[in-house]
Amino acid sequence: MTPTSRFADIMLPIPLHRLFTYEVPQELADRIAIGCRVVVPFGNQKIKTGIVNSIHSTPPIKYDPKPIMEVMEDYPIIHPLQINLYQWMADYYMCTIGEVINIAIPAGLKLSSDSFVQLHPELILDNIIDSLSPKEEHIINLLSKADQLSYQEIGEHLGIKNISTYIKSLSEKGAIVLFEKLGEKYKPKKVKIIKLSPKYANDEKQLEQLFAEIENKRAQIDLLLYYLRSCPPIKGRNNSIGLSKATILKDGGSVSALKKFVKNGVFEEINKTISRFDDDGEIQPSSTLSDEQSLKLSEIHNNFQTKDTVLLQGVTGSGKTEIFIKLIEEAIEQNHQVLYLLPEIALTTQIVTRLKKVFGNLLGVYHSKYSDNERVEVWLGLLKGTYKIVVGVRSAVLLPFDNLSLIIIDEEYESTFKQYDPAPRYHARDTAIKLAHLCGAKTLLGTATPSMETYQNVLQGKYGHVQLKSRYQDVKLPEMMLVNIVAERKKKLMKNEFSNILIEKINSALEAKEQVIIFQNRRGYAPMLSCEDCGHIPKCHQCAVSLTYHQAFSELRCHYCGYKESVPQSCEVCDSHKIKTRGFGTEKLEEDLELLFPAAKIGRMDLDTTRSKYGYQRIIESFEKKEIDILVGTQMVTKGLDFDNVGLVGVVDADKLIHFPDFRAHEKAYQMITQVSGRAGRKNKQGLVVIQTYDPLQPILRYILDQNHDGFFQSEAVERESFHYPPFYRMIRVIFRHKVQGVCKDASIYYSSLLLPEFGKNRILGPQEPIISKIRNQFIQIINVKLEKTGVDIAKAKKVLRTKMLQTLKEPEFKNVQIIFDVDPQ
Ligand code: ADP
Ligand code: ZN
Ligand code: ZN
Repeated sequence: MTPTSRFADIMLPIPLHRLFTYEVPQELADRIAIGCRVVVPFGNQKIKTGIVNSIHSTPPIKYDPKPIMEVMEDYPIIHPLQINLYQWMADYYMCTIGEVINIAIPAGLKLSSDSFVQLHPELILDNIIDSLSPKEEHIINLLSKADQLSYQEIGEHLGIKNISTYIKSLSEKGAIVLFEKLGEKYKPKKVKIIKLSPKYANDEKQLEQLFAEIENKRAQIDLLLYYLRSCPPIKGRNNSIGLSKATILKDGGSVSALKKFVKNGVFEEINKTISRFDDDGEIQPSSTLSDEQSLKLSEIHNNFQTKDTVLLQGVTGSGKTEIFIKLIEEAIEQNHQVLYLLPEIALTTQIVTRLKKVFGNLLGVYHSKYSDNERVEVWLGLLKGTYKIVVGVRSAVLLPFDNLSLIIIDEEYESTFKQYDPAPRYHARDTAIKLAHLCGAKTLLGTATPSMETYQNVLQGKYGHVQLKSRYQDVKLPEMMLVNIVAERKKKLMKNEFSNILIEKINSALEAKEQVIIFQNRRGYAPMLSCEDCGHIPKCHQCAVSLTYHQAFSELRCHYCGYKESVPQSCEVCDSHKIKTRGFGTEKLEEDLELLFPAAKIGRMDLDTTRSKYGYQRIIESFEKKEIDILVGTQMVTKGLDFDNVGLVGVVDADKLIHFPDFRAHEKAYQMITQVSGRAGRKNKQGLVVIQTYDPLQPILRYILDQNHDGFFQSEAVERESFHYPPFYRMIRVIFRHKVQGVCKDASIYYSSLLLPEFGKNRILGPQEPIISKIRNQFIQIINVKLEKTGVDIAKAKKVLRTKMLQTLKEPEFKNVQIIFDVDPQ
């Protein structure tokens, strides 16, 4: 840094459209660099952590800059590359760079006046006590009494406002952990480890003597022999690692013998914190590719010669993941980084376990269900170079990569790659492709059912295209059949929602000891109750939706705001007691199946059964272990699962999916039904898929049955193009929210009148009420702006949209209306 450059522009995690200039004090001048984390005063007696965007010598004109208070590390926590990426996201998705920073950086790296501080759960005070300053010691004392304290509380106790220096120092010493919200407190995962005491481990004579002493005690001898076999002190897994207590007991070790040994000092029992990422498992080489897979691998390489992005299109079970693993190995050999993006739901132990086996501790996992502390661990591990590969969900694209050569996006069509709330409303696939472009990396998209966007890019020659047409080892694709619900009902061959044919097929699958998956994309018991006398349907009073009946809790619940009430005994309008359920969800199907197949074990996988951290994993594991015969589920069962014993998949109601009022409904129905079908039939037997429908002649069902993705794309493309929808047109959705319906509507009409002269009538659709026109007491209106892909200056168009928004908000009656942009809405 030159002596004249004394100012730094800082990106703060707040939604304002600007950077903030601060003065760089002399004593920090040597340590500050672009991408560094700094603590700055902000507003009234507050502090925030921001990131240095630039360093310069131009003082701000309109205000006196305040000095930076602290530089948190002597190294940047993001690279200039990330600043470029974040800025691109802010521009493209019409939000602020502060909003991007806010979701990019884990809470533990965002010290502010709103932060909370706790003692590090594994702190051994003796190890650091000598290095503490009096103030630091004071803070440690406070925290050991208080469990957790806010930044401000600590300041009050110490009688000083700026404690960031001490917080920084304590956090560097590993003495404390920062977190952002109450309830986010870091709880490490602990296991009890058993080890032989040094006395016996290091001395064979002692061990011999011990055996002599316990000569008659069978259980103790067995236990000791078992331990020595598993942890031979010389070779293999040795005594310094030990065995987990759970493993010993699971393998039949005697509880009382173990207790006695611990009491007598033969064994030591140690509480060990395990990182979710550590793994003592042995590294195994990756599988040898089949001829077909090797051929496709070299096709991918060839495509990468001329294309930055390639689509690997292959049915479920065609061996895409094994090809990904080979590509990752090649990148790692070159000492490059790899990002492996997965949709939220599919990130299960299944894929992580497969990758861990090959890449061991080079693999970091970044997931929204993990604690903030674990996210900090991956962030810093990537900077330090401990992790070379990150498997993660959408926000992993924001991690500080600097040496990426490959990005893999598994199931790229998945709509969970798009963030809806809060801003930035970004699409992780598209952001990843941008990231790859900034690093000179290649992107591989993998799926059986590519999105309309991706396939259009393939047809236009922008993306390379490699196809795997058969399953690994030529396992047969499932046979598919349609069942006409109307005809079956007429013949009285329906039992509730199940046709006789489906019931028969379930029976034969169960007889053959095969498992069954039943798919219905609606959770709860019934989507509504209705009064038989007056037709009244109980609705949420905060949202414009009917309340879903959950029988297990005897409750009506709103799926949009979480509102709950107990089931009414009588109609609130006419007092009639004749209240019936209408429609059906997974809970109802589960009940029906229990009646129809009393001997079968039924499991259910939907949002209600997977809320807890490991809920999803538990259900998958018990399905894998064949503890469940029939699994009923929502779209959660459609992806990622790799089971080898599923003989039958039943789609109970295909029509609800197809006729959903949304321009993407057909695409999503095609993808979901195809994906869930892909779960049927593995290894040595062809599976069966039964699809129940009211209208077997719908063309989309034909495409699904024929596995004709190209045909589906062509027919859907005609619709999309003629109605000016993506991927042929760009779409930006403007969303208006306000608690008064009239104000919301007027604001949207006013805004659209400002747009009209700029864009013309054909480019503006709406304002209109969305399908759900009120959520949490906020009324909603939307305008869809559709712009041609060529001939429209998109940057200029976005500027117009923003200027007109500000103009709308200037009108006094609209000043409290929320106006939100959703670019490329899903
Ligand atoms: P996809 O990702 O396309 O669904 P996978 O890579 O999961 O397919 O492969 C399907 C199954 O076949 C998996 O159980 C996988 O372990 C196995 N498999 C695929 N390729 C190989 C290979 N080259 N060697 C051994 N097993 C393989
Ligand atoms: Zn009624
Ligand atoms: Zn509601």
